[in-house]
Amino acid sequence: MAAPKHYVVEHLDVELEGWSKLEYLTIATETRPPPSVSAAAVNSSNTPNNKPTFHLTSLPRELFENLPEELKDHDNLDATMEEVNKLDGLKAEEVCLLDPRAEKDMCPEDGEVFRWFVFGGILGDDPPRDRTTELRKYGFTGRRLGPVQMTTDTAVRVTRLVVEDKIPLDKVPFVDFPELKISKNETTEMPFRYVKREDGTPVMPEGMVELIKEDSNKGFLDMM
Ligand code: SAH
Repeated sequence: MAAPKHYVVEHLDVELEGWSKLEYLTIATETRPPPSVSAAAVNSSNTPNNKPTFHLTSLPRELFENLPEELKDHDNLDATMEEVNKLDGLKAEEVCLLDPRAEKDMCPEDGEVFRWFVFGGILGDDPPRDRTTELRKYGFTGRRLGPVQMTTDTAVRVTRLVVEDKIPLDKVPFVDFPELKISKNETTEMPFRYVKREDGTPVMPEGMVELIKEDSNKGFLDMM
């Protein structure tokens, strides 16, 4: 079997916003490796799974010490205050930075070369402020996922579709700037690209639509 892949989110914000928390929970769930065959034969549902596949790095001390319980419950999550380049077993030549400014787009063959995929733990901004630039200092090879800005969980999802499921980027179904219904008479446009479900709706973390509704009622989206 191919060596497991690692997904690293370098947290670049001071706090953990509600949006980021939902994104990180979703990434932890989606990157959880299936139980190994022998363990599955014994007990498929409660097999402990302590091999990290999702690394949350550069956490400020305050956040590291007060990480939400729901996140800690994910045993494939490795949370650390260290920067990504300090991760155990990481070899620079096997690391790919997901970079909206990279010259090359990600392709299925990249899954043979890279084992570590690094993302910026930042909420997207509209227009994009290129905060991913802070991650270029490590000198990892960059790959783009097309020209449109995605949320961090979408970027991880799309990377996995390309390098694990070997779906070429241009075959992944996307929906750009979807409109969400906030109330009876109000919609809001999300300024990002998402993976499209068969019914045409965007894949979003559980609870995200509700959070967006709450925030829009507080006028938060107007400030973005
Ligand atoms: N506004 C930020 C991007 C936030 S998106 C900026 O301009 O840098 C959060 C992370 O998802 C990015 O740091 C990057 O790692 C990844 N990402 C989002 N869209 C991407 C794209 N089109 N190509 C490659 N990586 C992308």
